[in-house]
Amino acid sequence: MTQSKTQPQSSKKPEINWPAALMLTLTPLAALILLPIYLWSHSISLSTWCIFALFLAWNGLGITAGYHRLWAHRTYEASWLVRLFLMIGGTMAIQNSVLYWASGHRTHHQHVDDVDKDPYSAKRGFWFSHIGWMLRNFPSSESNYKNAPDLTRDPMVMFQHNHYVPLILLSNFGLPALVGSAVGDFWGVMLMAGLVRLVVSHHVTFFINSLAHMFGSQPYTDENTARDNPWLALVTWGEGYHNFHHIFQYDYRNGVKWWQFDPTKWLILSLSKIGLTRNLKRIPSLTIVHAEVAMKFKRAEQKLSSSAAVYGLDMKYDLEQIRQKFNAEYDAFSETMNEWVKLKEQAFQLKKQAVSDRIGHLEQGLKVELSQIEARVRAHGKNLEAAFNGFALLKS
Ligand SMILES: [Zn+2]
Ligand SMILES: [Zn+2]
Repeated sequence: MTQSKTQPQSSKKPEINWPAALMLTLTPLAALILLPIYLWSHSISLSTWCIFALFLAWNGLGITAGYHRLWAHRTYEASWLVRLFLMIGGTMAIQNSVLYWASGHRTHHQHVDDVDKDPYSAKRGFWFSHIGWMLRNFPSSESNYKNAPDLTRDPMVMFQHNHYVPLILLSNFGLPALVGSAVGDFWGVMLMAGLVRLVVSHHVTFFINSLAHMFGSQPYTDENTARDNPWLALVTWGEGYHNFHHIFQYDYRNGVKWWQFDPTKWLILSLSKIGLTRNLKRIPSLTIVHAEVAMKFKRAEQKLSSSAAVYGLDMKYDLEQIRQKFNAEYDAFSETMNEWVKLKEQAFQLKKQAVSDRIGHLEQGLKVELSQIEARVRAHGKNLEAAFNGFALLKS
């Protein structure tokens, strides 16, 4: 991992990617010029606002539920109707084909933050990770579909890939034109649901690669730059919980807690209730709690070490006490983890000899033990926080 590098090996600027560069500069420019001119003599009707919102949602969810969680990460399966709906919405977003997008995104996860290999490495700065990576033909974003054999075998994905330009024209001009004519506001809908929707959707999605790797918290891992940011989740259909997503990319949820704003997960879950999506992947809650508590211990250890450095080897009496509490809690945490590993081994053996008629009974017993371990892990986290609350007081 190239943590300290901020520039790629080759410093020569690659060629400009003209189609992307023109699209990404001309569409905002056109919106900035055409919208005020239109508003000078017209007003936007309520129905046009609603169509704008619906197209924005269709387009956004096509990317989040479709491009991202379905095709890039395979976090669930969907019926052809749902796939078609998401593909039309995602095509409208003009973020390249599913194949190119998902393959690049898998590379992003595999080499996150690597300035040579991550196509939109946040270590190369805000501008690069937000939009710059698309404006030139950087080697890091060269298409390579070796990591997407499942997608190259998918007829719907390949149809979109092979007919991409006519499909983006149809979805961006044809659909708004059709709806605009139907409601009697052709130009209003073309402008709002066509152009303005496209520009807004572009930049909020790009925030995931830029801001969600810069601002927010890291409750699950600090091994990469990804952050959980509830404000970003509000405008990105739930994708702002990016720290969780980078550690558990195969979970269909990004906002894993029930109260976290993640409309994409609610959509996928609702569709599963009526049989349109299935096999929703969830990381076991114990694994998630473990990551959170392990992260708390890591932070506490860093805090203690830096305080010890300040106070010198003769740690103050109170600080020494906190250190003792920390060590005791850490030992207990490690012990719980060892029990968990043993239990997982038992579960594995049980699955291997899944012939016994007692299996249901045994599995039930394991489930109870696992939930007890989960409660203990949560308790370790709470104890640690309690010890550190005292520490915060002591420092102030
Ligand atoms: Zn990311
Ligand atoms: Zn992802």
